[in-house]
Amino acid sequence: MKQVRFPFLDLSDVNRNYIEELHNAAIRVIDSGRYIGGVEVKLFEESLATACQASHAIGVSTGLDALRLILSAWVEMGKLKKNDGVIVPANTFIASVLAIVHAGLRPVFVDPDPETFCISASGIDQACETDSGIKAVMPVHLYGNVAWNQEIRRTITDRELLVIEDTAQAIGAVSTEQGLFGSAHAGALGHAAAFSFYPTKNIGALGDAGAIVTHDTELATTVRQLANYGSDRRYHNIYAGFNCRLDPIQAAMIRAKLPDTLAANSRRFARVVAYENEIRHPLVIRPRISPNVTDQVWHQYVIRVVDNHRDELQQHLADNGVETDIHYPIPPHRQPCFSYLPKQHLPISDQLASEVLSLPVSDTTSVADAAEIARIINRFNP
Ligand SMILES: *Cc1c(COP(=O)(O)O)cnc(C)c1O
Repeated sequence: MKQVRFPFLDLSDVNRNYIEELHNAAIRVIDSGRYIGGVEVKLFEESLATACQASHAIGVSTGLDALRLILSAWVEMGKLKKNDGVIVPANTFIASVLAIVHAGLRPVFVDPDPETFCISASGIDQACETDSGIKAVMPVHLYGNVAWNQEIRRTITDRELLVIEDTAQAIGAVSTEQGLFGSAHAGALGHAAAFSFYPTKNIGALGDAGAIVTHDTELATTVRQLANYGSDRRYHNIYAGFNCRLDPIQAAMIRAKLPDTLAANSRRFARVVAYENEIRHPLVIRPRISPNVTDQVWHQYVIRVVDNHRDELQQHLADNGVETDIHYPIPPHRQPCFSYLPKQHLPISDQLASEVLSLPVSDTTSVADAAEIARIINRFNP
């Protein structure tokens, strides 16, 4: 492979945009002497809740823990019981599914709409028709596409499903359709949502971090307690809980970057436009661009390469110094850890796993770089 000319992502490069704010935030926390909880976490939670137009945000350790805490809280609250089915798109990142299993619930995989890479109303309907034990659904806003529309909202309401959004990849996205409680912001559409601030996400911490957003005060209290040893007051434990608290140092890092969410997402979109204008190849399907720009925040720009040419195109790009990635090469239902689950026929997810290719779209890549990468794709001649 030639030298890398176009890296996929360089986190020090991304964080250089915020260097002064990050330095100040670190010094503030060090000087505060408060290294668990405290004002940094509180201010971060207030900013996130406000940004999503939701009543509550709770900072937690990771995105996976955020998902797991919501589902475990619903079990503790009696809203779900062990082995209830939770619908999850089969092309998601493994963490979505791990959380369901960790909470003692049962993942029910559905194929996504290949145009949006997200769950569809008909997918939800079909699953519920064949499985009467389904009580919840996890729309995953994959690649930054909002998994929400009028039909999904209607189906979920008709079937009285609990809705847990996996918003790890979609901070700042806004749906064209209102959520169940008025807000149209991703993360405030359903009953509860999980965010991740893993360093590579659109807004990344400088380590692991996550958050839960909800309109439900009882749920907010329960997840807070579960994340703090199941304790309702000091040395008194009502649940067999976890330690999943958000570090103040990470809260401060995220808070330093949060005001840039909109601008950062529109910088991503500028690269997407360059790809959209330049990529012309008969084997490449470009992702659909929603007419409403806020509907997509482009966590990843994912093309599909048909006729089994994906790996060759990836090699062609590597030979020309372009780093790419695959989200995700092995879907959760094919992972060894889930081989005990009933076999499901998921042809779209299997096909996508063999076709998808993620191109660089972060602050590491300029608009001119994106145009050059597109021209390298156009020269692909298998
Ligand atoms: C990153 C991610 C998670 C998990 O977040 P962590 O903070 O890494 O635990 C969950 N779901 C999706 C879709 C993700 O992209």
